[in-house]
Amino acid sequence: MSERHHRVVIVGGGFGGLAAARALRAAPVEVVVVDANNFHTFQPLLYQVATAGLDDDNVAFSIRAVLHRAPNASFRQARVTAIDTGAHTVELDRGGPLAYDTLVLAAGAVSHDFGIPGVDTYGLPLKTVEDANRIRLRLLDAFERAADDPALIDDGALNVVVAGGGPTGVELAGGMIELYAHVLARDYPTLPVPAGRVVLVEMADRLLPPFTEPSSERARRTLERRGVEVRTGVGVGRVEATRVHLTDGSVIPAYTAVWAAGVRAHPLAASLGVELAGGGRIVVADDLSVPGQPDVFVVGDLAAAHAPGSRGLLPQVAQPAIQGGRHVAAQIGRRLRGLPTQPFRYVDKGQMATIGRHEAVTELPGGRRLAGPVGWLAWLGLHLVYLVGFRNRALVLVNWAWNYLTYDRGSRLLPESERGR
Ligand SMILES: Cc1cc2nc3c(=O)[nH]c(=O)nc-3n(C[C@H](O)[C@H](O)[C@H](O)COP(=O)(O)OP(=O)(O)OC[C@H]3O[C@@H](n4cnc5c(N)ncnc54)[C@H](O)[C@@H]3O)c2cc1C
Repeated sequence: MSERHHRVVIVGGGFGGLAAARALRAAPVEVVVVDANNFHTFQPLLYQVATAGLDDDNVAFSIRAVLHRAPNASFRQARVTAIDTGAHTVELDRGGPLAYDTLVLAAGAVSHDFGIPGVDTYGLPLKTVEDANRIRLRLLDAFERAADDPALIDDGALNVVVAGGGPTGVELAGGMIELYAHVLARDYPTLPVPAGRVVLVEMADRLLPPFTEPSSERARRTLERRGVEVRTGVGVGRVEATRVHLTDGSVIPAYTAVWAAGVRAHPLAASLGVELAGGGRIVVADDLSVPGQPDVFVVGDLAAAHAPGSRGLLPQVAQPAIQGGRHVAAQIGRRLRGLPTQPFRYVDKGQMATIGRHEAVTELPGGRRLAGPVGWLAWLGLHLVYLVGFRNRALVLVNWAWNYLTYDRGSRLLPESERGR
């Protein structure tokens, strides 16, 4: 490796890609971050955009602004369409190919429909700010249509089905029921909003499968107490425009069906022609490089990395991506100094999910659990700390304070262009 013009191309400005770019800011390399969007998305708060708690620009942040403090880094807004590891280039959907000396792949995951009919066409994923806006708009449109034609209520216009009882589904269902109870009931005084159903469907026999049973049970009890119908041990069999068919034969009329039931690695992984693990993730060596391709590292949701001493894969959440990004940056520095790379040692910081006002379950390493208001405050604090950008933190804090004190919510605009017929 030549020290002078060594170029590190990072594909993806998410948690993993930006952690790597920041950690390389003092390294003797040129860094190019490539992302299809010119902003970083803080996915953990997307459900609040979908439920009108936050505006979309509260959870997105300019990648160029993040790189202000990394003078050796530049940004290209482009979609990576192919990677030629032999020629050391990435193909972009605009502009010529980009050459690299070291490649860091951090393109994340995409929604996965598991081949279930109708999910692709009618299910609403929650991976991007566009997705979050689409869910909110679909819901508002259904309410406006029902206000105009109350016969649609029996057809499911006020109902929402959330498929997937992991943290995303639980948080979304909890946010949705608060939106119904405190906001939509007041916005639509002529509609029987409490009759609108929020149904959370999970194929496993309990919610939050990665959490302990007491946390799962607490999440279920809290959601049910607040009005969410929780259906566990049953899957989604088919989705239609206004119906969700479950595998036990039951049918839920719903104009809004959110698909939070699964992700798989970004298709770029499969295009590389390397070994893939479950969910299409790239099998990586213990230093997070691709076996046999030491110049290609993979981090975050795209990587099939292991926790130390464990055969299981690391979860597709923010911490493995952040820690992986920093680790890879350190390994690039070591290689440039002629040192061997080191294995990635993931530090488990626990897991958390909020169920809504005053309720969250937090599980810390070592088996400690926080629940209720204490868990909720921990959840709020941690999300503020990890949110990118001071302005975003300030905006989120103001919006949360407003929502908390007034029980009101933010953006509920429905432009004519988004109106259904
Ligand atoms: C709704 C939701 C809620 C979540 N909640 C939590 C939570 O509470 N806690 C938690 O720890 N984790 C949570 N996660 C998971 C967490 O957000 C991910 O694990 C994390 O974002 C993975 O980081 P990453 O860097 O691998 O990918 P990402 O952060 O997804 O970044 C990937 C980047 O790559 C870009 N990209 C993709 N394809 C291309 C291409 N072809 N060309 C150029 N750019 C491309 C994308 O635009 C994106 O910016 C949640 C995820 C979702 C969807």
